[in-house]
This record gives sequence, C-alpha cells and structure tokens, in this order.
Amino acid sequence: MKPTQLSRLAFFQGGYCRQLRWLADGKGWGTRRFHALFLAFHHPTEGTCLIDTGYSHHFKEATDSFPERFYRWMTPATLNPAGDASQILATHGWDPPGKIFLSHFHADHIGGVRCFPRARFVYLGEGLDKLSDLPVFSQVRHGFLSHLLPEDFKARAIALGRDLFHRGKEDWREFDMLDYFGDQSLWLVHLPGHAPGHLGFVLNVDPKPVFYITDACWNLDQLQNPKPLPVPSRKIQHSYPDYLATQDKIRRINPSRLQLAACHCPFTETLAANHAD
Ligand SMILES: [Zn+2]
Repeated sequence: MKPTQLSRLAFFQGGYCRQLRWLADGKGWGTRRFHALFLAFHHPTEGTCLIDTGYSHHFKEATDSFPERFYRWMTPATLNPAGDASQILATHGWDPPGKIFLSHFHADHIGGVRCFPRARFVYLGEGLDKLSDLPVFSQVRHGFLSHLLPEDFKARAIALGRDLFHRGKEDWREFDMLDYFGDQSLWLVHLPGHAPGHLGFVLNVDPKPVFYITDACWNLDQLQNPKPLPVPSRKIQHSYPDYLATQDKIRRINPSRLQLAACHCPFTETLAANHAD
C-alpha cells in the first residue's frame, strides 16, 4: 500500500521561556529563548490534528498557588501575544483539531490543552500514569502541572499501551513505533529518556518526511556536535543514560532522507509559520 501523505504541515510558536543558553547544550553564555513549538498537520480523512500545544493563559492560572508557583519561577514563560494555540491556528486558517497528540506531559507541551474543549488527546499512557502516581511536589519537580489538564481529560483521552508499538524496519529497526492511522502518514516513535512516555513523530509530507523528535534534544546541533549536558540539565531528564542512547539512535538514521525538527531548537523555530526572532 502506498503511504498516505499529509497535505499540510506547519510549526507554530506557542510562547517561550528564557533560560541560560548553557543549559541546552553546555555551549555558550547568556540566555536564549526556549520556544514552546507546536505542530499542526492535515490528514486527508482525519482533518486537522495537533502535536502539543505550547503555553497558554492557563499556565498562569495553574501556577498561581504553591508548589506550582516554584515552576513559574524556574521557567518564566512569556505567552505568544497573538494568543493561545487555538487563536493562532484560526489566524493561520486552520480548523480546530480533532485530535491532539501529546509528546509528553511537561507544562510547555500541554499548557494549552484546555483551549480545545472538543479535541481528543492521544499519548503513551505510561507517561501520565507514572506522573499521576507522584505527590504534587514531585510532579512539579518533574515539570508536570496537573491543573493544566481539563476535568474531562480522561474522558477524551486515547491512552496508548506500549504493546501497540513495534520495532520499525530498515532505518527504524532500533525504534519502537506505531503507524497510528494505519496508512503510514503518521508514526509515533517512542524516544525514551527525556520524560516518561516521551514520543517523537514521523510525518509523511512532501518533499521528505519530517522526524519531529520533540525534546529528545534541545538543539539539533547536539546531534552533529555532541557535548555532555551540564549537570542541572541531566537532572531534568527522566533517565540521562536513556536520553543519550536515544540521541545515538537518531544519529544512526540516514538524515538525508528526513527533515529533523526539535521543539526547543533555534533552527526549528525559524520554520515556524509565526516565526518571531
Ligand atoms: Zn520536555
């Protein structure tokens, strides 16, 4: 069967937090913006879908009280002046998404899910299960703010089991993957290390597939010119050894066949339809 192509794909910038540049890759001084990118695509029969949401005005509400306020202090977020993800999509001529794929549950990725009251949420179930079992202080330390999720989240959730993921073929033989729509238009790829249940995505678009590795690294330059992360950045990872192993696997893929993209990468941000810098 010929793989189905997605007819439209766009990155958007959904706010940012400013942090030390050094934290991203151990190189350089000063600060830089860690953009919270999200991605929209159009599937021929499923319509508009989203990957993550960036920040939204709900981030402020969710971090007004303690211990969540600590998270706001550690990652001071600036919202996109053009609005939340739902407004940004409408401005750029996209329909509201039917499905939102969540790469993981860090606040800069799920910050806008409350802006989509009718969407369904697709994610690797073990990620949320592990975080939900933690006391609130630990959740905040792991970058998870449960108040960002709407009260009916579970009713609209499509929580995937790891048993649905299988080893890929050829270039992908080191990865556990799921052909989500069964037509090879969108592959969900388990990329362990950064966060529990962390997912990347392969999107079949012209002229070549996009491999969106979300937070498997914070700067694509790390794949070409790797340098060990500073200790504080290692501690943010769910498993630093798994994080490094995932990057090694990504390096072994033939990059000429793919467009690589990463959520907080300055290069990827230049691809955003609402590119800001
Ligand atoms: Zn993250």
